[in-house]
This record gives sequence, structure tokens and C-alpha cells, in this order.
Amino acid sequence: MARVFNFSAGPAVLPEPVLRQAAAEMLDWHGSGMSVMEMSHRGKEFIAIHAEAEADLRELLAIPAHYKVLFLQGGAAAQFAVVPMNLLRGKTGADYVNTGQWSKKAIGEAKKYCKVNVAASSEADNFSCAPLQDRWKLDPDAAYVHYTSNETIGGVEFQWIPRTGDVPLVADMSSHILSRPLDVSSYGLIYAGAQKNIGPAGLTIVIVREDLLGQALPTTPEVFNYKVQAAADSMINTPPTYAVYIAGLVFKWLKSLGGMQKMEQINIAKSALVYDYIDQTEFYHSPVAAADRSRMNIPFTLRNDRLDEEFLKQAKSHALTQLKGHRSVGGMRASIYNAMPMEGVRALVDFMRDFERKHG
Ligand SMILES: *Cc1c(COP(=O)(O)O)cnc(C)c1O
Repeated sequence: MARVFNFSAGPAVLPEPVLRQAAAEMLDWHGSGMSVMEMSHRGKEFIAIHAEAEADLRELLAIPAHYKVLFLQGGAAAQFAVVPMNLLRGKTGADYVNTGQWSKKAIGEAKKYCKVNVAASSEADNFSCAPLQDRWKLDPDAAYVHYTSNETIGGVEFQWIPRTGDVPLVADMSSHILSRPLDVSSYGLIYAGAQKNIGPAGLTIVIVREDLLGQALPTTPEVFNYKVQAAADSMINTPPTYAVYIAGLVFKWLKSLGGMQKMEQINIAKSALVYDYIDQTEFYHSPVAAADRSRMNIPFTLRNDRLDEEFLKQAKSHALTQLKGHRSVGGMRASIYNAMPMEGVRALVDFMRDFERKHG
């Protein structure tokens, strides 16, 4: 069996030890005589899997006790609507920061529920940077401030936490949650689809401060009502059981590596390997401002875009896959999530150097 180095933006690479353990437990989980996929979500086995996953996530991110952790469905895109449904709390407007494709989608959806004030935008800079806080035009009456802390497509990552005073800060962390330590207490709500840096598609994680719950719009579906889901341990209906199980294995894997501090060091080292090389050659180019570059998603272009096809073809023959950039920006994109090993990043940079030697 030959595994490739998979640079997909999502669904994305998973840690090999997790896949191996899941394979070993596929037919008989811990002597239960069945696969996790076949278990009742109300049975003691799955309740234990679910509770342990939550406890491990709480430990990894040091989530304070007055925050609820929800395991939902619908993806991050559902949260674009579910956040205003739950968090408007009688207010009529919310602030949004526009830093790229994903924040634009969040804004578009929020407009169905409230008045959106775009408090800051990097659109004029072609979404190549994070707008400086002192240029944000925040509305003190906003129900919350929403931003995308890592723009998966543009490769822009906030290296700082916005300050929003008493207005709750909401972040879409889909593509970099668990890549670094996180000060949860700076946020009112954090959400993330699992399929980038956590586990399989189908699971969406929400971390929300308790005092923000209980004022959802009356039309909010029960499955999307944070308060109702929190009271039912995210099980008012059948949760995505297998995805929760795999996420739980990923949390254990992160703990065994040494947790968030260690993971961050590894991610700094991995991303520096790519950026340092890109910056020392004219052959490749990073479109993102150096201070705002993502450690997870690295878009880059070849100066000569006529070589794009050949680059992708050669990369694939070296077992380096899914490097094509998002259709909206072109070029290349290497997503190097937690589960991408250092040797995969080294193989990529070695290949890029070799390709430059042959075609530069
Ligand atoms: C992938 C992604 C989404 C969409 O996630 P779905 O789970 O497909 O809805 C939203 N925001 C960000 C930042 C993403 O990377």
C-alpha cells in the first residue's frame, strides 16, 4: 500500500496512527462486538466515546467551564446562518470582517437575518492581508463581531486576536483550530467544520460562552438551537457518531504529541520550510503579506503560469497530490494541516527546488 502526501484543503489528511487504530477497531470496538458506526448513540459505549472526545478537546484548548462544547452537523456553512439565529439576542445588526471567500459567504448568509456592517475589509488588497485593528469601524450596538481567523483559500491567518470590548467575538476557525494554543476566553463563540484539521466531514464543533445562549430566534430549528443542544449534550437527534469517534482519536493523538504548544512549534517549523524557500527564489511567489501568512494553507504561484500543468503532473508522479490552487485564485495551494508530517513538507520543498532547477 502506498500512501501519498495529500495537500488537500479539505477533506484533508488524517494522522496515520488514527487511521490505523480506526481500522483495527472497525469490526469490534473494545470488545463490544460491533463497529462504532453500528452503535446506538444512546448506548453506554458511544456515550463514553462522546464524553471522552469532549473532555480531551476541553483539555487541549483549556476551554473554561462556562463555555459549552457542541458537536453538531451541517458544516461551517450551516453556522453562517446558525450564528445569527442564535446570537442576535434582540439586536438588529452584527459586525463582519471581510478577509476573503469564506468571510464573504458568512456575510451573505448573515444578511438574511440582520443588518451586516462590514467593519473592515481587505478586498482592496486582493485579500492578501489581515486588516489592521485600528482601521476597523466597529458598531458598539452590534450583536457580535464575526471574522474568519484563517482564510483557507487566500491563506491569510490572523496572528493576533481582535479586541471588541463587550461585544462578543465570533470566529470561523475551520481551517486552523487545534494548530496552536487558543485563548478561548477572548471569544464569545468559535466554530469549525471538522474536515480540515480535526477529522471526517459531517462533524461541526461549536464552543460558545454560556451566557450568550437562550435567546435564539423563534424560527431556529431545534437541531440548530445552541441552548437546546447544549442541554441535551448535542444529542437531541442522532449525532455524526463515527465522525465524533475519529475526532476523539485525533484529540488523543494531539495529546500524545504534547498538546497545543508542541503542535504549534511543529506547525511553525513546517510552514517556515515552505515560506523560506519561496522567499529565496524568484521562481515561486507568495501573494500574502509576510506577517499574515497562514501556517496551514499556503497558496503560491509560479512566475511562469504556463508551467502550472507540468508542475501538478510532476508533483503527482512524486506522490504529492491536491496541490492545485482554488479555482477562484489559481496557482497552487499546499495545505499542511497538523496531520501532514514534516517529511511530507520536506518532500514538497525538495520537489519544488528540483522543478525550479529543471525549468527555471
Ligand atoms: C471549509 C470551510 C468552510 C466550509 O465548511 P463546510 O464544512 O464545507 O460547510 C467555512 N469556513 C472556512 C474557513 C473553511 O475553511
